[in-house]
Amino acid sequence: MIIAVDGTVASGKSSAARLLAQELGFAYINTGLMYRSVAAWARRQGIATGDQATLAARVGELRIDLRDLPDGQHVLVNGEDVTDEALAPDIGADVSNVADNPAVRDVLVREQRRLGRAAGNAVLDGRDIGSVVFPDAEVKFFVTASEEERARRRLADDRARKPDVTFEEVLAAVRARDARDRQRPVGALMRMPDAIEIDTTHNRGPQETVAQMRAVLEQKFGALDRLRQLARAHSPSLKPQECG
Ligand code: C5P
Repeated sequence: MIIAVDGTVASGKSSAARLLAQELGFAYINTGLMYRSVAAWARRQGIATGDQATLAARVGELRIDLRDLPDGQHVLVNGEDVTDEALAPDIGADVSNVADNPAVRDVLVREQRRLGRAAGNAVLDGRDIGSVVFPDAEVKFFVTASEEERARRRLADDRARKPDVTFEEVLAAVRARDARDRQRPVGALMRMPDAIEIDTTHNRGPQETVAQMRAVLEQKFGALDRLRQLARAHSPSLKPQECG
């Protein structure tokens, strides 16, 4: 079973998706981290992320793996952990360039499908999970919050690294990122008609967002145990001869 969690920047979708996956015993796949890892790899290789042709020619060299560690999900490119660089606050423009590149998207979408299918039961978070990666996902969430609230959340993170950054600067950056995410020619952020919107503006933390998601799942499946039962039936670790 696949649960797609798409949404706007700083809406709290990744933390909630990770917690939800833990609660259900599903794999968690942070697709934003995969795009970030390509930007980190390009920097290490000295490839300008705006150079679409070079990136397109070399993206086939990449093997991307995700690992769950106590401090969160880590990403490895060709066996090297690039998580710190991938999460650096100054990587935003490079990540957007990488995410705009259709050749990169082709490769990453294929990898995301492979990881999701291998896991059998997975929560994936990103921008195009319910529209492109898994359009047949059993459950789709679209997570968002007001621009101002998202900027406030981002400000707290950004100040740790850049103490003089202002709220107005962060708000402008959030708006610019939304516009870029929505206008991307391939894999643009959109709310699919069958996605359930989760507004996190008034939530104090990811637990409240997970509670909203849980309520939706309970309504759809009757109870979470029923969902877990269905998920077990989908699990690829159950080989046909082990069934029944
Ligand atoms: O979610 P996060 O901010 O980590 O995403 C990093 C970048 O990757 C963003 O620019 C986002 O637009 C892009 N992205 C994407 N498709 C996804 C996930 C993230 O284009 N499925």
